[in-house]
Amino acid sequence: MTLQSELNCQTCGACCSYSSDWPRFSTELEADLDLIPPQFVAEDQSGMRCEGNRCTALKGTIGKEASCSIYGLRPDVCRACMPGDAECLTARASFGME
Ligand code: SF4
Ligand code: SF4
Repeated sequence: MTLQSELNCQTCGACCSYSSDWPRFSTELEADLDLIPPQFVAEDQSGMRCEGNRCTALKGTIGKEASCSIYGLRPDVCRACMPGDAECLTARASFGME
């Protein structure tokens, strides 16, 4: 079993490329959402825009080098995602990472 402390998001990115339906906006203030560059926002404004399962704000290569191009502005659900939690491990497993 992988320990949480061993997980490095910057060499992962799996949870940012796991669902065409994620991340959705939830508890953010309108004013904060307005700061996200519109090219990264879904047409219906429900969340981030994805291409396939991948959030368009994700930079890099899954499992090698990954970063969020709007890190300081990222939605609340992204902030809630913690390395080692159930969603993290499911996303990682889908890319063959422990
Ligand atoms: S799947 Fe887990 S380790 Fe990978 S980027 Fe997301 S939170 Fe970090
Ligand atoms: S906004 Fe950033 S942290 Fe959230 S899914 Fe997209 S790339 Fe990942």
